[in-house]
Amino acid sequence: MSDAAGASWTYCPRCATPLVKRHEAGALRLACPACEFVHWDNPLPVIAALIEYEGKVLLARNRAWSNGMFGLVTGFLERDETPQAGVAREVKEETGLKVESTALIGVYEFMRKNEVIMAYHAISSGTIELGEELADVRLVAPERLRPWPMGTGYAVADWLAARGLPYKFIELPLIEATAGASS
Ligand SMILES: [Zn+2]
Repeated sequence: MSDAAGASWTYCPRCATPLVKRHEAGALRLACPACEFVHWDNPLPVIAALIEYEGKVLLARNRAWSNGMFGLVTGFLERDETPQAGVAREVKEETGLKVESTALIGVYEFMRKNEVIMAYHAISSGTIELGEELADVRLVAPERLRPWPMGTGYAVADWLAARGLPYKFIELPLIEATAGASS
């Protein structure tokens, strides 16, 4: 679903002419030789939620991830949705929890998927009910969190640092996906 990179595009979405590669505005891009269409291939924003629930941080394992991997809840924004509303929606959909407040942790590159991550601290309440994208969740005390050195892991590290909590990045290998990308 998250084919923001559009690397597999073959035909112009406007006129169905086969796309060609050509230089446009300083980069080699897929463009249409018959009309004005250019596939700009700009990064897609993704929201991530560091969910605080009953004093612990909720880490989620996406169904599409291999066993043992847990990360933040992530997703794409809908049209006409603010990042904060998107966080609240994704948290509700995937964990059943109600977001009481959101605060921006930071914005992070995720070039591997041509995405930009906007990470929020989301204080949440309610009862955990897993949505269809998640296989499992784990509640971890903040002082026991181990961030991962990529994508949303940097948001976890910054969140811990802002609380004066020492941390050490876990070792890779680790494949991180964004939750919305599994469908
Ligand atoms: Zn065209």
